[in-house]
Amino acid sequence: MRAYNFCAGPAALPTAVLEKAQRELLDWQGTGVSIMEMSHRSQEYVAVAEKAEANLRQLLNIPSNYKVLFLQGGATLQFSAIPLNFFGKNAKADYIKTGIWSDKAIKEAKRYGEVNVIDATVNVNGKTGIAQSQSWNFSEDASYVHYCENETIGGVQFKDIPKTKAPLVADLSSSILSAPIDISQFGLIYAGAQKNIGPAGLTIVIVRDDLLDQAKPEIPSLLKYANQAHNQSMLNTPATYSWYLAGLVFEWLLEQGGVKAIHEKNLAKAKRLYDYIDQSDFYDNPIVKDNRSLMNVPFTLVNDSLDQLFLQQAEEHHLLNLAGHRSVGGMRASIYNAVPLEAVEALVQFMEKFAQAHR
Ligand SMILES: *Cc1c(COP(=O)(O)O)cnc(C)c1O
Repeated sequence: MRAYNFCAGPAALPTAVLEKAQRELLDWQGTGVSIMEMSHRSQEYVAVAEKAEANLRQLLNIPSNYKVLFLQGGATLQFSAIPLNFFGKNAKADYIKTGIWSDKAIKEAKRYGEVNVIDATVNVNGKTGIAQSQSWNFSEDASYVHYCENETIGGVQFKDIPKTKAPLVADLSSSILSAPIDISQFGLIYAGAQKNIGPAGLTIVIVRDDLLDQAKPEIPSLLKYANQAHNQSMLNTPATYSWYLAGLVFEWLLEQGGVKAIHEKNLAKAKRLYDYIDQSDFYDNPIVKDNRSLMNVPFTLVNDSLDQLFLQQAEEHHLLNLAGHRSVGGMRASIYNAVPLEAVEALVQFMEKFAQAHR
C-alpha cells in the first residue's frame, strides 16, 4: 500500500507516473534496453528530452525568447551559477530575504560580488510574513533582483510577483507548476526537480535570451547558461533518468488539465488544511494569512511535548514525513501537486482525532 507522503523533498510523485515508469523500466518502447541504459545522444533519448521540454513550455506558456535548461547540481548550485552568469559586467545584485533558502542564496552570491540585502521578513502579532514592497530599497544599478518565491522551510510565499527595474530572478523550487505564473515577468527562474517536478538530480532553469552574455570569464564551462543553451543541456551527460521521469510528470500534468486545473486542486487542499488549523485551538500556523504557502504548511501543536507522539501515530496511520525542518521543529505538511485531496482529508481526520484524545 502506498502511504500518504507529505515529505518536503524529495517528495511524492504521482502513482500513475511511477507505474508507467515501472512498465517501461526494463524495455523502453521495444528498444530492448531501459531508458537509463541508453546514450543521451541517441535519437530515441533526444526525442524524449525534447518532448519533455515542449510539454514544460506548454504547461508554463514559456515565451520563445526563453531558453529551458535541464541541469544538475540542484537549486543550490544555481545559488553560485546565477552570480557567475550575471556578474561579468556589473558584479552587483539585490537579494530579497524572506527565510532560510533566500539567505543561503545571499551567502553564496556574496562570494562573487556586492549583494544588497533587502530583509523583507516581518512579524505581525507573532506571525511571520513578508513586508510591503514599498519598504524595499532596491539599488539603482543592480544586475538583477533575486527572491525565493516560496520559502519551503518557513512556509512563507509571496502574494505577488515583485515589480523591479532590474531583471527578476526567482527560486521556484517548491512552487513551480503549482499555479499559473507569467514567465515574461522574469529574467530567470530555477527549480530543483525533487519537489514538484520529478526525482532529485535535475534542475530546471528558464532564462531570457538577452541575459546570456554577462558571465564572468572564469565561470566553469558547465555552469555557463550560454554553453548549456547552445548544447541543448547536453554539454556533458545530463541526468537522463530524472529528465525522462520529469517528462512523464509533465504529461501527467497535461492529462490533469494543465497548471490551471492543478492550481484549483491545490487551492482546495490548502484551504481544507488551513481552515481546519484556524478553527482549532490545538494547532497553530505561524504565518500571516496573505503569505501562507500553497505547498508547504507548517503547523505546531500548542502543547509541543506531544510532538513525538503525534508523529509516531501519524506514521501508524500511513501519514508520513510530517516533521518540520530540523532547523525549525514543529510539523510541516508539504502538499505538492502529486499529493491528492484524499491525503489532506486523511491528515485532517487524523489531526482531529489526535486533538480530541489529548486536549
Ligand atoms: C529544496 C530547495 C532548495 C535546495 O534544493 P537542492 O536541489 O537540494 O539544492 C533551494 N531552494 C528552495 C526554495 C528549496 O525548496
